[in-house]
Order: sequence, then C-alpha cells, then structure tokens
Amino acid sequence: MAGNNLTEEFLSLVSVDRFQEQYRADIDKDLYFGAPLSFIVDAEKRLRERQDRLMAYFSMEYGLASSFYNSFCRQAGISELNNIPANTVFSNYRLADYFFDVNVDNLIDLPIYSGGLGVLAGDTVKTMADYKLPAVAVGILWHSGYFRQRFWFKHGQVPERMQWDPARYPGLVPLKNIVSFKLKNETVRLRLWKYYVFSYKYDYAIPLILLDSNVEENPSHLRILTDQLYRSDNAWIKLMQRLVLGFGGMAALRELGYPVNIYHLNEGHAAFAFIDRCRGLGAAETEGVQRQFAYTCHTPVEAGHDRFSQDVLRDALTEEDFDLTCRFGREESGAVNLTLLAMRASGSINAVSKNHRQVMRLQFPEYGERIKYVTNGVHPYTWLSREVLGVLKAFPEEFEDVDRNPMVLERARGLKSDPQFRTQLWQAHQKNKENLCVFLDKWRLNPDVFTVCWARRIAAYKRPSLILHDIERLRKIVGTTGPLQIILSGKAHPNDNLGFTFVNEMMDTVDSLTSDYDNLKVVILENYDIYLARLLTCGVDVWLNNPLPPFEASGTSGMKAILNGVVQLTTLDGWVVEAADKGVGRIFGYANAPGEIGSEKDLHIQDDASALYQALEEMAALYYKTIQGGKLDHASGWLDMMIDCVASASYFNTYRMLDEYRDLVWAKLGGASLEGNASPRRHDRIEAHELR
Ligand SMILES: *Cc1c(COP(=O)(O)O)cnc(C)c1O
Repeated sequence: MAGNNLTEEFLSLVSVDRFQEQYRADIDKDLYFGAPLSFIVDAEKRLRERQDRLMAYFSMEYGLASSFYNSFCRQAGISELNNIPANTVFSNYRLADYFFDVNVDNLIDLPIYSGGLGVLAGDTVKTMADYKLPAVAVGILWHSGYFRQRFWFKHGQVPERMQWDPARYPGLVPLKNIVSFKLKNETVRLRLWKYYVFSYKYDYAIPLILLDSNVEENPSHLRILTDQLYRSDNAWIKLMQRLVLGFGGMAALRELGYPVNIYHLNEGHAAFAFIDRCRGLGAAETEGVQRQFAYTCHTPVEAGHDRFSQDVLRDALTEEDFDLTCRFGREESGAVNLTLLAMRASGSINAVSKNHRQVMRLQFPEYGERIKYVTNGVHPYTWLSREVLGVLKAFPEEFEDVDRNPMVLERARGLKSDPQFRTQLWQAHQKNKENLCVFLDKWRLNPDVFTVCWARRIAAYKRPSLILHDIERLRKIVGTTGPLQIILSGKAHPNDNLGFTFVNEMMDTVDSLTSDYDNLKVVILENYDIYLARLLTCGVDVWLNNPLPPFEASGTSGMKAILNGVVQLTTLDGWVVEAADKGVGRIFGYANAPGEIGSEKDLHIQDDASALYQALEEMAALYYKTIQGGKLDHASGWLDMMIDCVASASYFNTYRMLDEYRDLVWAKLGGASLEGNASPRRHDRIEAHELR
C-alpha cells in the first residue's frame, strides 16, 4: 500500500508518458526498474525545494557503464536491439576466414557517449550521487548513438548506423513534457526523457534529463538533430546540436521546476546555456550570471574547439541571441569560438590536469591566472574489478573503508613487503587476465603470455599504430624475450580521414603477421566501448598509452588500469605527468619542452617507436623473469610496480576530483557553499593532500 502511494508520489513529480501502457510493470510498489524508488522521490523533492544551492551539469555525452554498473531491470527482459551486438574481431589468427565474432549476452550501455569525455561525465555524475549532491544532469538522447564500427578487410573502418530502442531501455522513461526554443525562422521542440544515476550503494540518485528532437511536432530537418552524436557533415547541424544542449537544456530545467543556480559546462558544447541566461539582461546583470557558471575544458587539440562563422550564426539565431553570442564568443578572426565563449561566460575555468593547465595558459594567455586545474579521475566502484576488490577486502586493517574512501588505497605501499598481499594481488590479476582470455577464447590467448593493450579513441595525436611501426623489431623482441599478445581497439570519428588511415594500416600490418601467430598474436577488437574497456583495463599486463605530448589533456583509461594493478607503458602526458614519480610503470619517448606546445602534426613516430620497443623489451624481460619456471618470484620488481599502481589510484579517482571541484570551483561561485548532506570524505582525505 505504501508502495502504491510512492508510485503516485513519483508520478506527481515526474509525468511519465505512456505510463499505463508501457511502464506500469516496471515502476511499481517501491521499485523503479528494480531499484529503490524512494530515493528517487526523495531526490526529486529535494531538488525542487531550493533549500540548498542546486547545480546543473551539462554534457554532450554520458558514458554511464549501465551495462554493468547498477543496471536496471525490466519485467519484459532485455529487448533484442538493446543487447550488445555480435562484434567481429580482426586478428592474425585465421582459419578459413579472417573473422570470428565475439558474442556477449548483455545489455548495451546507454549509447549516448563516444569516448573519454562521456565516461568522465558518467563517472562524475555517479560520484555526485555517492556524495548526495543537490545536482541534476543534462544531456541528449542520441537515437542512433555515436556509430557502430565495422571492419572491412582492405577497407578499414566502415561506420554503420547504430540501432537501439530507447522506449525499452531499462530505467529510461519519456516524459510528457515538451520544451522548445526559438531560432530566427523556426521553433525547435524537444521531448524530455529521464534516466536516474544511482549511487553505488543505491541510496541516492541524480536525475539525468535527456533532450530529444525526434518528435512529430518538428519538421524532418529538425527531427534528425538528436540522431547521431557529433555529426559534423555541415556547420549547421554542428551548431544545432550545441543549441539543443544549451538552449534546450535551460528550457528543460525551467519546465521541470529545478531552481538551478550553478551551471557546470563539461566542455564548450553547452556554452549556449549562458546565452539563454543572458537574454534581456544588462551588463551588470550578466556579470551576476557569470558568477553562476563553471567551465571545464577537456582538450588542447585544435579540432576540440568549435568555431562557427558569423554567417552560419546569423542564419540560425534570433537577433538577440546572435548579438549576445558575438559579444561573448567572437575571436580575432571574427568567428565565434565556443571555447572562448565558455571562458568568458564562466566565473571559473579549469583544465583537467596540471600539465593541461600549463598548455591552456599558453594557448589563452589573457586568461592565464584564472585557469585552474582539477585532474580527472575515474569512479572506483565502476572500474575496480571484483577480483582486486576482493584482495583489498582481505586486508581490512588497511582497506576496510575502500568503498567509501578510495584515498585509503595509498596504504597499499605499506604492504609492499607483505608476501600475502603480493601473491594475492598477482592472483587477482591473473584471474582478470583469464577472464579476458575466456572472452577471447576463439583467438587462443594464453593467460601466461605477456599481454599489452592499446585501446582508446583513434585520433592522430594518440598514435594508435605506434606499436606496429616496426614489425621486424617486434619479432626480435619476441625472439629474445618470449611470446607477446597485443590487443588493439578504438573508433575513429566517421569524418576523420586520418583516423581511417590508421585503422587501415593496423589491419594491413596484422594481415602480414599470420605466420607469426604462435608467438606474436595481434587482435583488433571492433566497436570499442565501455564494456570492452572494463574487460581490458583490468585484464592485460601492460596498458599502453602513447599520445604525443602535450596533446592528451588528461586521459583516464590508464587510471582504470592502475586501479587494478595494471602497469603503464606511457609517454609523459596528461595525468601521467602527475604520476611520473609514483612508480606506475615505464615512461618513454618525446616530451615537449616546458613552455612550448609544439605541433600536433609532427608525430615523432620514428624515435618514439624505437623508445617504445626498448621499454617494451625490458618490461617483457622482467615479466618473464617474474614467472620463470611457472613459479611466481615474490620479490620481483614487477609486483612493486603493480602495488604502486594500486596505491596511486588513491589520487586518480573521482572522489578526490569531486572534492576539488567542490572546494576550488563550485565553492567560488554564487553565494553560500554547495554542500551534499553526506560528505564522508571531507574529514578523512587522509593521504590525498600529500600527493599534490
Ligand atoms: C575510459 C575510456 C576512454 C578514455 O580513454 P583515454 O585513455 O582517456 O583515451 C575512451 N573510451 C572508452 C570506451 C573508455 O571507457
């Protein structure tokens, strides 16, 4: 009975469309798709009451790991379209044909992300839920996600339309609310959807509002705006996607009655939210608005800064919006730059690592001192494997509190001389590696073979094929130190021709290695996603990260790996600069001189490949020495590195990151401070300070 009242209370706060026909069975009694409804009701009530300050977090993409993190369930089961599709794997292991598929029977991740930026946003919102922060998140419902990557032999990457079924995705509900915003000559209407991001303990939830232009009221050219993430075939559609997020997002917050007074722009994509807030205001009042905005810049790469010509803007925007946009966003060339707009809009500007701040200050000297940094992190509960968590739990004196407080991971260093801890960590790692080998059983990977992985978005500055640069050298390493398994995965943006070339090149190289298969296995996994990232970041021995410094603003996949004791082989860039003296692995290759950015185009392939092979060979030798004769050498330096990895994750996580956002960013905005009603970490951030 109480449960039914709860459902009614929920429906009075959130008007779910087609509730009777479609969602009755899943929002019933005290459950919301299997999760506790009461915490959703509590959160929704609290957010409308305006007893604390309230934050809206805007992001173009969210990678929530909903395929394995607090997945909701549906009475009717997972519909076919929302299951992970069979993906092809390209490798030098061939029988009759080149290709085998991997089949996974699992819910897909909510396909509203493309890569690291989305995963960071997802991890941030989960941490906000863990902290019980008064916050709401705003994003877009992408009807065909980013894209589905297919490999065609001799063609490389062929993008396909991704298909899924939002109406049957567990935990996602359409609302009756439709909002709109005005353009110069037409009005865009947006349907609102909601998803709830629960804390890891299921005791609080952050609402995620998703905007959707695919409604009957819109003409067809507007209905496609929320079809594909980062569609960029023309400037108009690029602009419109950003207007949907900024203008549409603000309209949605008003429509749903959230009295937001702090706005966090995760990347410049959402900068039009500021223009919305400035309509009808005088100069003094816009200054007040600026004190409500925070902007996080995520990339020093040129392609990461959106620019629009005044012509494109004039054709699209109302006169007032056009004037405001030019006033705040115009750069010297006359074009409007959303990075500049976001910086001028915001009372707080931050980079995402210490090194990135340095680069940003060089790129935007006039903002120099105002640019702060908050180094990215990963959400521990999402990315820590159950195997490694199990080891930590076996040492309660040190790690009892690790769920609530990942800062205690630093204590792993104190266990370096404990043979039990060393052995158990190794065994947990070995278990993770075996799981990966089972997942890839058709390719006959061996858990006792030295395994390296490169997996991330394919972009030139990340140098995806560096490890395949000199095959003869690779063969030599295999010949002198032992067999090698290399796993590669990543998507290139569909309009990135250089990215395509990398995929092609990698496939050609792999094709030339068929006779090496016994000792040198190279496996390229199609359609890199969060599900794969979770398997890979804990299931290999070495996580390879070779961006061209200083173009990786932070990088986060290496943080997922160290959390699981996976050793780094990396250039000195992004987050790694802050971990350089922490013993997390090997650092190699070119590094930019302090005070210089260098060129994105000069990839330093030759020298860095050579440095990479040198380091790889030494690592392989140490690895094989560690397991020589089938017996673990407990004293091996390899285990020291693994332990240093786990310990360093005490810093590179979203709990430390959110503490810093709260203290350095949100606290400086508006009036009183933004407090969650449970902030367990404040007083026990034991070692985090020492690491700065
Ligand atoms: C973590 C993650 C990324 C980010 O990787 P970087 O190392 O920061 O490039 C990209 N894609 C997926 C699917 C991820 O899980």
